[in-house]
Amino acid sequence: VDSSSNGPQASQSIPWPPHPQADASDSTLVGIDIGGTKIAAAAITPGGRILGRAQVATADCASYEAFVQALIALVGRVLDAAGRESRTLAGIGLGCPGPLDPEHGTVHDPYTLPLPDGADIVTPLRRRYGVPVVLEVDTFAAALGEHWLGAGAGHELVACVMIGTGIGCGLVRNGKVARGARGAYPEIGHHVIDPAGPPCYCGARGCWEALASGTAIGRAGQEAAASGRSSRLRELAGGRADAVTSEMVFRASREGDGAAQQIVARAAEATAIGVHNIVHFLAPDAIVLGGGVMQHYDLFAPAIEQVLARITMVPRQGISVARAQLGPDAGLVGAARCAALALQEGRTGHS
Ligand SMILES: [Zn+2]
Repeated sequence: VDSSSNGPQASQSIPWPPHPQADASDSTLVGIDIGGTKIAAAAITPGGRILGRAQVATADCASYEAFVQALIALVGRVLDAAGRESRTLAGIGLGCPGPLDPEHGTVHDPYTLPLPDGADIVTPLRRRYGVPVVLEVDTFAAALGEHWLGAGAGHELVACVMIGTGIGCGLVRNGKVARGARGAYPEIGHHVIDPAGPPCYCGARGCWEALASGTAIGRAGQEAAASGRSSRLRELAGGRADAVTSEMVFRASREGDGAAQQIVARAAEATAIGVHNIVHFLAPDAIVLGGGVMQHYDLFAPAIEQVLARITMVPRQGISVARAQLGPDAGLVGAARCAALALQEGRTGHS
C-alpha cells in the first residue's frame, strides 16, 4: 500500500534500525522544508508516502526561540495529522537555505531567515524527540527527493537545478548528497554565464541566477515596463512598473508581447548554457529542472534541446534532462530521505 503509487524506487524498503519502541511497519519520518516564506513539514513513510502535513509562516518565527518552538510544534502537528503516535517517530530531516554546517546542525548568516549566525536548529529537536535529526541544504535535499521518487530516479549522478527566486543546484551521486571538499557546497547557480551581464549580490556579474531566476526575470520585466518597451507589462502590473513579476513576464510573453518574449528568450538561453556547462563539467546522467520558474518549462525546453543536440565532447546519449516531478514536495521528501539515510548509516548524532 505504502509504495505502490510512488514509482520504481519506492518499492524498495529502506532497512534501518527502527526506533526502539517502534514497530518497523509504522515507523514515521518527518521532513521539514524551511523557506523564506513558509516552513512546511510532512510525516512520511519509509516508502515515501506523505501521511500528514502542516506549515507555518516564516514571518511568525521572528526569533531563534520562536523558530525552534515552531519546528518542535510542526513535528507534533504532522504526527497528529498522520494519525501516528510520537513513539513511531524514527528521524527528522531539515532542508534549509544555506550557508549551513550539516555536521554541527547550524545555519550561518541566512539571507532570508530570522536566525542569528551559527543558530543550532538541530539540537533542540533532538533533545525534544530523542531521535536522529539531520540538516541539509534545501536544494540538496530536493535533489535527493527527486532522485528517490522523482525525475532523477535510477540515475547515478543527478544535478537538480531549482530555478525560483534564486537558482540552486543540488548534486546526488549514488543515492547520496555529493558535496565538495571539506563538506563545502558547490554553488552552481553562481557560475558565470555572461561576464558582461547584470551584477549579482554575490559580487560577480552575469551569474546564472542573475540571468534566469524569477527575480532576474521580474527585474528585467520592471525595466521593460519602466522604459516603455512593454506597455502590456505595465498594464498587467496595474500601471506600476516596479510591481511587474516574473509571472507577468511569462503571461505577456505567451500573449505575444515582444519585450517579454525577449526577456524569456534571454533567460532560456542562459539556462541552456547552464545546462551545457553542467553536462561538460560533471558528465551527469540526469539533469532535473525544478522550481517555480520551471512551471514554464515548455518555454525553456527548445533552447535546452538545441544545446544538447550540439554536445560532442561527452556522451550525450543517456543524459536525461527533465522537468522535476515532485514540485514543492521534493524538499520535504528529500529531507525525510536524509534522515532515513542517516539512520541506515548509523549516523544518529548521539555518538
Ligand atoms: Zn552570483
